This record gives sequence, C-alpha cells and structure tokens, in this order.
Amino acid sequence: MSKDWIEFDRNHIWHPYTSMVNPVPVYPVKSARGVRLILEDGRELIDGMSSWWAAIHGYNHPVLNQAIKRQLDDMAHVMFGGITHQPAVDLAELLIQLSPAPLEKIFYCDSGSVSVEVAIKMAFQYWIAKGKPERNKLLTIRSGYHGDTFAAMSVCDPVTGMHDTFKNILPRHFFAPQPVCGFRDSWDETYIGEFRHLLDRNHQKIAATILEPVVQGAGGMWFYSPHYLRRIRELCNQYDVLLIADEIATGFGRTGRMFACEHADISPDIMCIGKALTGGYMTLAATLATQKVSDGIAGNGTGIFMHGPTFMANPLACSVALASVRLLISKNWKEKIRAIESQLDQELAPLKLKKSVNDVRVLGAIGVVEMKSAVDMADIQKKFVEKGVWIRPFGKLIYLMPPYIIEKNDLSLLTKAIREIID
Ligand SMILES: *Cc1c(COP(=O)(O)O)cnc(C)c1O
Repeated sequence: MSKDWIEFDRNHIWHPYTSMVNPVPVYPVKSARGVRLILEDGRELIDGMSSWWAAIHGYNHPVLNQAIKRQLDDMAHVMFGGITHQPAVDLAELLIQLSPAPLEKIFYCDSGSVSVEVAIKMAFQYWIAKGKPERNKLLTIRSGYHGDTFAAMSVCDPVTGMHDTFKNILPRHFFAPQPVCGFRDSWDETYIGEFRHLLDRNHQKIAATILEPVVQGAGGMWFYSPHYLRRIRELCNQYDVLLIADEIATGFGRTGRMFACEHADISPDIMCIGKALTGGYMTLAATLATQKVSDGIAGNGTGIFMHGPTFMANPLACSVALASVRLLISKNWKEKIRAIESQLDQELAPLKLKKSVNDVRVLGAIGVVEMKSAVDMADIQKKFVEKGVWIRPFGKLIYLMPPYIIEKNDLSLLTKAIREIID
C-alpha cells in the first residue's frame, strides 16, 4: 500500500525545488508530536528544523489544536471584503502591541512571499501617491532571501536566487555587498561604504531598502552586526528611503529577541512576518506598516491600497496564530532561547577545529555549521534519518533551528548527529 502512494508522489508531485525527472527521495511522515516526526514505518525523528522556522512550539500542541477546533465550530473561513471578525482583530491588536513602534497598520497575507509582495507594493504605491513614480527601484544586500514570487525573487541574492534563469523577466534592483561584519564583530564605518554609495548615487530612484534584519536565512544563514542595521536605518532616514524589514524567518523569538530589529533598537517603516506566526499550523503572514506609510498610500485621502487575497485573514489561521503568540509570551521564552543558544554554542563550537568546517555560528535558537564545500544533500539527509534526526542541509550549510520546547537531551542528540556526520 504505502509503496504505491509514494510511487505516485514521485511521478506526479513537485516538492520544493525539485525536478520531476530526477526527484530526490522524500520521507513519508505519518504524524508528529512534540519535537518528533513519526515516519510511516514507525521510526521517530527528532526535528531540528521546526518545519522551516515555523513549528516553534513543536507539533500537535494541545493549546493550538484546541484553538483551531474551537474556531472551526464557529466558521472556517469567511471573505474579508466588507466583513471582519474577532480572530483577525484580536490578533492584529496583539501583533501591533508586540512589534516595534510605530508600526500600527496591518495587512494579512496568505504566505511569506505574498507579504513581501505586499510590502514592495506598499512602498511603490507610497511614492506614486507622493507624485514620485520614478522611485521604482529597491535597494537590498546580497545573500538575502525574500521568497519565490517574482517581486520577492528580484531582491533575493542574484547568484543563489535564480536571477540567471529569469534574467530577462525579473526587474533589476540595486545590490550592496553582503555585510562582512559578523554579529559580534566590532564596527568599522567602512563596512557600510558601498551601501551608502549606492544610496547616495541612486536615492532618487529608490523606493525602499529591503533586507532581513541581522539574520540572513535561506540565502546563507549569516548573522551580521546590529550596528550595520542601525546605520542603514539612519541612512534611509537621511535619504528619505523607506525601510522594509523582512522578519519572516526571524520573528517570534528565534534570534533571542521577539523581532530581530530589536538587536539594533530600530524600527522599520514596513515589516513582514510569517513562518512562526501560527506556530507552524497554517499558512498565514502579515505586512505591518507605520501611519506615515498608510497616510502616504492614501495620498489626498482617496487612494486605496490595491491588494486583497481571497483567503485574507482566514479565521482558522488567525485563531491559531493568536493562540501561538499568546502561548509564546505566556512563557519565559527568552530564558529558553538563551538556554538553547548556550547549549548549541557549547556542543557545536568544537567543530571549528575540523578540517572540513569553515565556520560555526550560533545566535538564539539557530546553530550553523558552514562546511568548506557543498554537501550531498540526499546522501547526508539519509544518514541523518538513519541516526533518528531530521536535519536538512543546503549548500555548504548544516544547521539547526529546533522547536523552542526541545529538551536538553534531544538537542544533544541533534548536535551529536552533526558531529558524527562530519567525522
Ligand atoms: C521563508 C521566507 C520568505 C518566504 O515565505 P513563504 O511563506 O515561503 O512564501 C520570505 N522571507 C524570508 C526571510 C523567509 O525566510
């Protein structure tokens, strides 16, 4: 039985970034509980990925399950055009309260990529309404990742972000070098030189700067100096360019702060959130903006913001998001992240001495081992599964971002698996 449907999967279903001709193996999961994925054949894997940053409370959490069940009895969905509902309003209130002031307007989206599209559209519409439509370019930094839709893809890293494939289709934006100064490195003003130069030369064409604050995720798992972000905020102010912070991966505590912008004590004009927003239960994202942005888009008061997804503010998703964020703040999450951080640090740091390892870095509940050369993902993944862990490397990077509920022993099993694989 199980063989048949896996065969069907192989022949008919695309998985993320795969070929239909030469598909990579996939592992059938039957259920998931706490930090464990249970495979069809009964094997259990400790989850080191939180299903791509999302499942911060682990799987099958009674509080989150209950939130969805309760909402389901009222309504699963209702259109958001001309209608509102309490889950959307309660969640908005909580998100605005938690996010850096003065973000106070919110647009609900279906996925992270869409929230980036919305953020970019907000920035462009802002300048159109201000009578400066020539401000139609974006400025970003290399090695970023902002999603797979076209506007989002156009600000992903030009090398790893598929720009070559789509070079005649994607709009061209400005790219500053990836920040070279690591999270804990001391600051030198020359680090911001190229960024400043690009802004100085082109600011009249630039609507907004977009970047992932402090932690660059899928574009290279790099942690850069909060001072760099602080200087960018200052330069954006100086040149009257909007700042979009993509907190889709970093939001909700992952880096040790509720939002990564807090490391630099700055606030963006527009902020994207997603991934951990629903605790990994459903797809939901949001774009927050300041009143300056919403007033700008409104122009003389008649301007409307031109976006409205069918499943905007889905009540099930809003309810589980509300439950997830409340669950997070009801606990001493900062202490938990600090404990994960110091354990990751302790258990991964020795790998720095290995010949094949280029760098080891840890921030919050993220641990990264950067190899000197790219790993064979399918092969290494198989070995991890044999060791009872779910770790999915890409390129040169083997990394962990476990659910926050992970216990010390389970986290040790994850780091041990990485050490053994590298050996
Ligand atoms: C994952 C991610 C996105 C895209 O989100 P999707 O929900 O996959 O569309 C955008 N930006 C960042 C920083 C991300 O990590």
